[in-house]
Amino acid sequence: MNAPKPKDWIMGIAPYVPGKSSGDDGRKLVKLSANENPLGCSPEATAALNEASAFVDRYPDPGSTKLRKAIAAKFGLDPARIICGTGSDDVLHLAANAFSGPGDEVIYVKYGFAVYDIAARRYGGTPVIADDKNYGTDVNAILAKVNDRTRVVFVANPNNPTGTFSSRAEIARLQAELPEHVLLVLDGAYAEYLAADEDDGALELAETRANVLVTRTFSKIHGLAAERIGWGYASADIIDAMNRIRLPFNVTTAGQEAALAALAADDFVATSRAHNAKWRQWLSDEINALGNHGLRIVPSHTNFLLVLFEGKITAEQVNAALMEKGYAVRWLPGQGLVNGLRMTVGTEEETRGLAEALREILTVSD
Ligand code: PMP
Repeated sequence: MNAPKPKDWIMGIAPYVPGKSSGDDGRKLVKLSANENPLGCSPEATAALNEASAFVDRYPDPGSTKLRKAIAAKFGLDPARIICGTGSDDVLHLAANAFSGPGDEVIYVKYGFAVYDIAARRYGGTPVIADDKNYGTDVNAILAKVNDRTRVVFVANPNNPTGTFSSRAEIARLQAELPEHVLLVLDGAYAEYLAADEDDGALELAETRANVLVTRTFSKIHGLAAERIGWGYASADIIDAMNRIRLPFNVTTAGQEAALAALAADDFVATSRAHNAKWRQWLSDEINALGNHGLRIVPSHTNFLLVLFEGKITAEQVNAALMEKGYAVRWLPGQGLVNGLRMTVGTEEETRGLAEALREILTVSD
């Protein structure tokens, strides 16, 4: 056979497995599997999306100019050093593409975001996995993996799927001890869920250091996951390299307009953060009150909880039973989390329903 043959490294990629929204039988489930905002998006963003429907026949602004200016104004940044992407996934891929290739190494933590593995392999790089510390990022373990071949380090802070957070001091130490030739990508997809005193200093590092890229998204607290809008901030040289390979029209007009509106919707963001804090705590308390079934919650700084099943009943069993009861959470055996389920904080009704379903499942298992 003489058919076209993909690169070996492409066939070494395990495809991304998205969170479920329906059962194997097609039944619609309550979707608590993708860390979306249960409150939707702000009314301002909805209005902007509706208005943008008048412009579907024209290409979007290739440079996302208005959006970059608004992001810069909001965070006190230089708009010329911002890049917008088709979700922050796009920005993560651009970083791997611009700075790593065959023979190079890309480091991320053991329980890291699944896209880092795909982004590393896609351009021929070799993924290198640093061990965790209690499911969290271990800066020493990352530093121990660095060598002359290292090109990129991906760290999500807070991390998905574990929900753990590394302090400002730890992130600063990681940056300070990394060689200057290594690009440190600090992925802040869940940054808006942090308390005011938990800023990890990522944007300040990107402002002042030549090897730091920060990524952020409109998919989580802003509730615009379907529109695919993310952004990155780094030195002018890093952004210049990424812009050379960026698809020209990578953010739609509707996406740019919705993101602009979302940036100004401070009340919606505050309401979403407060809702999340309240129901994350409530769900955590409910799970802890379920009795002695070997469940353990990894302390979360995000809009989800990682629940470990260390007793008789397994994560796989509970995942299947929750699906039976109409709830989709995330079981991530592909990421080595065979014993964990990641549960997104939903609406009040969804969260109460999930807790009740868990109680029923564990009672039957007694
Ligand atoms: N980084 C992390 C840590 C995430 O969890 C996600 C979404 N699951 C992303 C990046 C990508 O999000 P998006 O492409 O929607 O911006």
